[in-house]
Amino acid sequence: MKEKLYTIPVSDAFESPCECPLCKMRQTLENDAIEYTLGPSYMEDDIRAVTDEMGFCSRHINQLYKNQNRLGLALMLKSHMDKTIKDITALSNEGASVKGGLFKKTITANGVGDYIDKLNHTCFVCDRIENTFLRYIATVVHMYKTESDFRTRFKQSLGICTTHYGMLYTEALTALSGDMASSFLNDLNDLYIKNMERVRDDLDWFITKFDYRFANEPWKNSKDALPRAILKTTGEFIE
Ligand SMILES: [Zn+2]
Ligand SMILES: [Zn+2]
Repeated sequence: MKEKLYTIPVSDAFESPCECPLCKMRQTLENDAIEYTLGPSYMEDDIRAVTDEMGFCSRHINQLYKNQNRLGLALMLKSHMDKTIKDITALSNEGASVKGGLFKKTITANGVGDYIDKLNHTCFVCDRIENTFLRYIATVVHMYKTESDFRTRFKQSLGICTTHYGMLYTEALTALSGDMASSFLNDLNDLYIKNMERVRDDLDWFITKFDYRFANEPWKNSKDALPRAILKTTGEFIE
């Protein structure tokens, strides 16, 4: 079973307390992918061809910039720009054709729009993370189905973020059937809603604490309610 490869990271993630173990796993994959991108690999021709083609999304270009390998990033971006300039020049030279009369001209697009659209939706780092992360999602569902220990740990976890709730929901609809499907979906919904409510209530107390009448009340679990609410709603870790 392919999922066997991924059971250890999934099991570890659900053991350490976090508002979304899947976000935690994604963050680890992301950090590894950033290290990889700026490691010796960027000097390899076949990897360079892929970074030239895909470029990077805004989230990952920020993370790459923070990594401090400025020369590596500059070399990659320079050859990515060489390719972009060459490709767009070629597409523009194909020319957008203009048809119609004096007052109403129809411009038929050349391939520039599609090219930019595709470029805006590709990222070398996202692409490197994607397959493994989808296996993690499948593994959570698979482990729930096959391991009763994991089922308990899953139900006792601190829940998941909205995006990963949606991904698990969709995965379950294709991977499970019958009683197992309804049991998973019930537990998943319960886990998600119950923990969203818990963090929402922490956030509510955090807001109340701004009222001077409550200034001397204890913080309870609300001191870090805002970063936890951000993780639940957007999957972002605030550092
Ligand atoms: Zn998440
Ligand atoms: Zn990306």
